[in-house]
Amino acid sequence: RDTHFGYQTVSEEEKGEKVYQVFENVAKNYDLMNDSMSLGVHRLWKDWLIHHMNPTPGTKLLDVAGGTGDIAYRYVDYIRAQRDKMVRKKLKSQQNLSWSEISRAYRPEEQRPLGGSEAVICDINKEMLKVGKQKLQQLGYSEGLSWVAGDAEELPFDDDKFDVYTIAFGIRNVTHIDQALQEAYRVLKPGGRFLCLEFSQVNNPLVARAYDLYSFQVIPVLGEVIAGDWKSYQYLVESIRRFPPQEEFKAMIEDAGFFKPLAHLFESGFLFPFLLHHS
Ligand code: SAM
Repeated sequence: RDTHFGYQTVSEEEKGEKVYQVFENVAKNYDLMNDSMSLGVHRLWKDWLIHHMNPTPGTKLLDVAGGTGDIAYRYVDYIRAQRDKMVRKKLKSQQNLSWSEISRAYRPEEQRPLGGSEAVICDINKEMLKVGKQKLQQLGYSEGLSWVAGDAEELPFDDDKFDVYTIAFGIRNVTHIDQALQEAYRVLKPGGRFLCLEFSQVNNPLVARAYDLYSFQVIPVLGEVIAGDWKSYQYLVESIRRFPPQEEFKAMIEDAGFFKPLAHLFESGFLFPFLLHHS
């Protein structure tokens, strides 16, 4: 069967191979390009996702299409901050210390254990995983993280294993989105949550015009100048255009069995986050 790769019609097999090539090509420059293309705003979207996930110590996260680990390290930071808060509160109530005494006695930078929290970063692309693992190791993250090469359409995990499944700017690259959603449902525990960040259609005509100019005229040029790779960035732009509109995607997520969508919480026009619950 045929599908698309950007605006090209390709066979389903070919799409997988081409997507693999794109991310193999961009892996080394991926983080730099993300910052340049979004002027750093992707960081805020990812922070927003973790804030809404609000993981607690013990939460098991699967980050699919996890790339260079941006969701995973934010998750670790968030859990650490939660634990720090808990320990400080406990110290305050048990030992009746002042907050400044607690600050002296307890230093969060000593990096407390994560208390059974665990994040698995799963991505089909070994190069992206390699770059991500090196980055996070250099930044001092390793506890609680594992890196697994795997396809969103056929996840190498048992049923009912995770509390939260995230996929950030990944699902539009998958050949069979419905299959990936079914897999998300399968690996989540009952009551688990599906959180997705993806670009989508811009409804405001003025913003749409500005966005068209930026994405077609600027992004591939940036790709060429910074990473010497026009084509990969042209694909990334085109893949956003071919992604189903918000309502259609929401219906697909619900078809996979999820409910209680909070999809309209926040719609910037470019970004459309989906947070849904496993039934
Ligand atoms: N989530 C990361 C982020 O937000 O920075 C990376 C997003 S990057 C735009 C898309 C990622 O999806 C790439 O790392 C790519 O290898 C991965 N990907 C593409 N198809 C996939 C599939 N079928 N299964 C798992 N990962 C896939």
